[in-house]
Amino acid sequence: MTASKPFKILILAGDGIGPEVTEQAVNALRSVADFGGYDFQFDAKLIGGVAIKQQGSPLPEATLAAALESDAVLLGAVGGNEFNQLPPDKRPEAGLLAIRQALGGFANLRPSFAWPALANNSPLRPEAVEGADILFVRELLGGLYFGEPRQWDKASDSAWNTLRYTKAEVARVARVAFELASKRRKKVTSVDKANVLEVSQLWRATVTEVAQEYPGIALDHQYVDACAMHLMNTPRNFDVIVTENLFGDILSDEAAVITGSLGMLPSGTIGGAVNLYEPVHGSAPDIAGKGLANPLGAILTAAMLLRHSAGLEADAQAIEAAVKHVLEQGYRTADLARGNAPGIQVVSTQEMGQQVNQALSHILDRSQALHAV
Ligand code: NAD
Repeated sequence: MTASKPFKILILAGDGIGPEVTEQAVNALRSVADFGGYDFQFDAKLIGGVAIKQQGSPLPEATLAAALESDAVLLGAVGGNEFNQLPPDKRPEAGLLAIRQALGGFANLRPSFAWPALANNSPLRPEAVEGADILFVRELLGGLYFGEPRQWDKASDSAWNTLRYTKAEVARVARVAFELASKRRKKVTSVDKANVLEVSQLWRATVTEVAQEYPGIALDHQYVDACAMHLMNTPRNFDVIVTENLFGDILSDEAAVITGSLGMLPSGTIGGAVNLYEPVHGSAPDIAGKGLANPLGAILTAAMLLRHSAGLEADAQAIEAAVKHVLEQGYRTADLARGNAPGIQVVSTQEMGQQVNQALSHILDRSQALHAV
């Protein structure tokens, strides 16, 4: 984007800790806009439980219409215990599934990054996670989760799902992976089960064919079982991992242990009509409203929005540098404050957001001063 062109961001804060963490993410975006002179136009709408209460639907029409008119959507989280008795299609989570489907993103991006200051938070040994910086590109609209026919046939005591991909579905997500790798360490690992599954054989052949378009990117293939092991043994050997829906669901959760806390994980879904950005965590009703939520996952999600939708790579990096700085200074929300090591200061959601914003202002200020020289 350019400084003069308006960029419409729809904020869907949702339920539980969603509004608390989203507020901090929006503050970071506002700082970026102020320093860069960007015309970010924020709109806010309801989704999830709060939308059920106020408008009778987990995804009101006005919310969907605003989402489809925006340049990017930033979502907090949905869900709450009071809705657990409702049928699945009436619950807050139905709103999330419906908006994901309506926006049509097919590539789910989930970074898994070992923050040096949090090396002791991972259940893995610090020397194992050191240097890990993985970007998962998970195919999101195909595979077993959507394939037909599917059924639990109680009469015959049997059930079946269908794993089906077309070459076009594989090629488009592979291209996303190669494009992203070209801006990173130029390596793609494609994960499949081609020794057993015909679908994986199509997957492997297609990714290999697409790789011809990207001669500067190294491609390797791993079976999903081997990949699960390598992720824990030598996570730093991976750059971009591209895989199908089910494998990606499992492997990206496995790799989340590298970071050490659910509250640190951002995500984005791209490739559809409008890209959708959301932290990986849920609405965390157990800590909602207490100032205990870690806003860093949401703030890092805002950085992904700048990188993948607004084309503001330097500003995305500035947010990530601010988060790194604040962690190095010893600031921790309660979920990160393991063992109360010396030099650690436990802060609230809001204080953490303020610390990041302060660091971000310094970083943006410095980079502007450098440009002015
Ligand atoms: P959750 O992610 O909300 O919470 C799991 C655990 O992690 C809780 O102990 C929680 O306190 C903690 N946690 C989560 N985010 C945190 C943060 N930012 N800072 C500190 N601690 C954090 O998952 P859950 O408990 O299984 O689900 C709660 C509700 O959220 C349910 O209604 C569920 O359906 C919904 N949910 C929504 C999404 C989403 O909106 N994308 C994702 C997962 C779950």
